[in-house]
Amino acid sequence: MDPRHSQIRLFIDHDLAEQMTVPLDAAHAHYLHTVMRKSVGTQIAVFNGRDGCFLAEVTELSRKSGVITCLSLQTAQWFSPDLWLLFAPVKKARLDFMAQKATELGASVIWPVKTAYTQVKHLKDERLRANAIEAAEQTERLDIPHVRDYSPLAEILKDWPADRALIFCDERLAGDQTTDSLRILSEIGGDKAAILVGPEGGFSMSEKEMIDALPHSYGISLGPRILRADTAALSALSLYQAVKGDWLATLSPPHNEVE
Ligand code: SAH
Repeated sequence: MDPRHSQIRLFIDHDLAEQMTVPLDAAHAHYLHTVMRKSVGTQIAVFNGRDGCFLAEVTELSRKSGVITCLSLQTAQWFSPDLWLLFAPVKKARLDFMAQKATELGASVIWPVKTAYTQVKHLKDERLRANAIEAAEQTERLDIPHVRDYSPLAEILKDWPADRALIFCDERLAGDQTTDSLRILSEIGGDKAAILVGPEGGFSMSEKEMIDALPHSYGISLGPRILRADTAALSALSLYQAVKGDWLATLSPPHNEVE
């Protein structure tokens, strides 16, 4: 295995460039010093979502602070497809899971939406963000999905951008033999899309009407079974990545390694 894959990878919200020294915040210092028992001289990988991934060396480290020095660019910056995930939030543990897995599957925006039948009243956006960052560190993506604030679906739909396809996971279509979801996805024009998954209670009639009225909305089925919302989100993300996104072998690989 490439030793790079077993390297510690940290997302650091600071400019990065060769030879630059970068301070570690208390959480990163604690992680390296106390959790991982690392010391000065340890090499790690760092990325900030815009400047690529750098090999860096720990040059100062204590329990609460530290400094790293960027040595060389390891991987040039690449971005995930412009694919949003809008979903009605589920309960805590499965919400963490959803944010982590959506990050692994390459969502560029994670957007919790309040629908008519959503049970969750308040949501800790910070927790979703922390989950997304941790998953990005592990999955070796170089961008962090943008987590938007919990917002009412009706308001989002009112201002829906004309150039973005809305892929609507429609439980009414479960098992509908005439809905060829792969064909529908492959025929969507443009490269800006969003997947919408509803709550356990499904969508209300008026929500369905608003969605259907959008010029660029596409209802898809995810098979004959009714899936829980988290399973539905991950299935739809996988389908999109396979048919339109960055699983396609015909696209130039995003991992343009630096020699
Ligand atoms: N209680 C609802 C199901 C909700 S499942 C009912 O029985 O009708 C939660 C969400 O997952 C749905 O709103 C839909 O967006 C998605 N979903 C689940 N199974 C699906 C399927 N087979 N096809 C398309 N979407 C599905």
